[in-house]
Amino acid sequence: MPYFENCLLCPRRCGINRYLTVGECGVDARIRYANALLYKGEEPPISGKRGAGAIFFSGCPLHCVYCQNFAFSQMAYGKPIDLEGLVERYLILQKRGAWTIELVTATQYAPYIVSSVRLARERGLRLPIVWNTSGYETIETLDMLKGTVDIYLADLISLDETFCERYIGAKDYPEVAKKSIKHMYEQVGNLKIGEKGRGVKGLIVRILVLPENVNRIERSLHFLSKEISKSLYVSVMDQYTPVYRAREYPTLRRKITVEEYERALAIVEEFGFENGWRQTHHLKRGVKEVEW
Ligand code: SF4
Repeated sequence: MPYFENCLLCPRRCGINRYLTVGECGVDARIRYANALLYKGEEPPISGKRGAGAIFFSGCPLHCVYCQNFAFSQMAYGKPIDLEGLVERYLILQKRGAWTIELVTATQYAPYIVSSVRLARERGLRLPIVWNTSGYETIETLDMLKGTVDIYLADLISLDETFCERYIGAKDYPEVAKKSIKHMYEQVGNLKIGEKGRGVKGLIVRILVLPENVNRIERSLHFLSKEISKSLYVSVMDQYTPVYRAREYPTLRRKITVEEYERALAIVEEFGFENGWRQTHHLKRGVKEVEW
């Protein structure tokens, strides 16, 4: 595919030939994935009762020091798979009762995703396609995904430049993420939930609460409330765990406290968001409340 000879698929815009070498994302032009399974840990419209049919891809354009998926995102662990193999995985997951097909960190493979979903649709794939993303996307790649992706499940990691430079290795993340999340919203709108609570189409934004609110979530929420919508579905996540290189940074060496999470929820409420989810991992692992 021509996209990989001069790769500009993500905001890093490496411009390299991925048939010959790897880019900033750590992967070459072959599709690699770590796992394909039914995953129950996502928001209710994505997971349902049986789980999302999640495929975890290798590589990532960002370099978060606390990456929860570091083995395959940062160290590019994974097995190669071709287009036919991907189509087969989607259809197997559908057969096993997946609520949606969730593609986790797939930006670096976007053209393959468009082709594989088209083929899978022709062969009977009916499930919504969920794009689980860091929010670090180009407008061109989002336009390529139009008509393929039904639901964007986007992190808004931080709009603080200093944080982004230090902890996720992308000083330009705030500017890029603001534009890309706006574009996602223009493309798919607010989340629509269909029969039995299954997500049909739309945007969900995730806010991960970090110790000492080091990522300044009020900036992210201010942006979302003013420039997107107060009806936006916001998912406030409490599951931060100090893994990968997090222990090199004193602030990131511990999980968040119940008080820090409650404070984060209070900030979300102050901004007047009407829809979303909070987690109750700190009370009982794996349980999510559906309403604010
Ligand atoms: S997808 Fe990878 S190779 Fe392509 S621009 Fe992004 S980091 Fe560079």
